Amino acid sequence: MSYNITLKKVESSRLPEVDFDTIPFGKTFSDHMFVADYKDGAWTNLEIIPFGPISLSPVNLALHYGQSIFEGMKATLSKDGKPLFFRPEMHAKRINASAARMCMPDIPEDLFLEALHQLVDLDQNWIPPSEGSALYIRPLMFATDEMLGVKVSSTYKFMIMTGPVGPYYPKPVKLLVESHYVRAAKGGVGEAKTAGNYAASLLPARKANEQGYDQVMWMDSAEFKYVQEVGTMNIFFVIDGKVITPATDGAILKGITRNTILQILKAKGIPVEERLLSIDEIAAAYKEGKLDEVFGSGTAAVIANVSEIKYGDLVMEMKPIETHRIAHMIKKEITDLRSGVLEDTYNWIVPVAAKTVTA
Ligand SMILES: *Cc1c(COP(=O)(O)O)cnc(C)c1O
Repeated sequence: MSYNITLKKVESSRLPEVDFDTIPFGKTFSDHMFVADYKDGAWTNLEIIPFGPISLSPVNLALHYGQSIFEGMKATLSKDGKPLFFRPEMHAKRINASAARMCMPDIPEDLFLEALHQLVDLDQNWIPPSEGSALYIRPLMFATDEMLGVKVSSTYKFMIMTGPVGPYYPKPVKLLVESHYVRAAKGGVGEAKTAGNYAASLLPARKANEQGYDQVMWMDSAEFKYVQEVGTMNIFFVIDGKVITPATDGAILKGITRNTILQILKAKGIPVEERLLSIDEIAAAYKEGKLDEVFGSGTAAVIANVSEIKYGDLVMEMKPIETHRIAHMIKKEITDLRSGVLEDTYNWIVPVAAKTVTA
């Protein structure tokens, strides 16, 4: 199916005011955004318009009861300057998995992708060229019925915003193993990228920050025994040369970077396990000197090295970051695939290609 997306361009671009070398994450947005409305069972009013405020009723259902989901993805430039997406169809599928859990309507994959291509093609000059920089893309869907009362909304808005980020060189993070709060429980909404999950994480994160830690390491909700995620990233451990990541169990967000890393490791013949991993197994490996590396994975940072983990009274100091060879190899592999230095044998790279845009 082909979609008719109307275009209202900005009168003058804000791009000349932006310095790509000093952009704070998440505060600068490109000239345009995509907007669509869901009503009477169909997506309508598809348009690309200047980025800016939208008006909402104070009794907008999403504000009160939280039917709101999002995605986070990136477009980058290849080394010869072509704009590229990384596994965009995975994000199209995941927003629909989130939508299904939150009783929200499906966004047809071809609509999601067409909106994405047209928007990023139009604002492609906003993609910063330097390595490690990217155009961050934020698809968002939320309820728009105007009433009070907990119910499934019958109308929604789907939007896509973009903005330049980076260069992003995350410093190694210190993690605090959470022993009181949980991010998600089996049967809950942990697998959905839905707004409330992030609201729920703020207080534990603030408490960890007050103790000098960057992020919380989330444990399973039943026993506080098995590792789930860290902050808003999936997590990997390298123990005695073997890579281990918690198996997704319904409470863990199914990261696309996580999936990418698993495929790269398998392709390279590096032993990797997805399974239950207890914090006590990690502590034991640490004490035996076998905890080689720990890193988080997510679209924003790609890989975040971990320098320290605090579990009760035990402070686990990681080996020097320069020795974290797996983390380094993966980051380089993903960067080289995106820049076109490496041939994309996985079919993960999708060139940005707008079809016709009607004025
Ligand atoms: C988005 C997210 C991730 C990482 O997912 P990617 O697809 O790799 O960006 C991990 N955990 C949580 C809680 C997230 O919201």
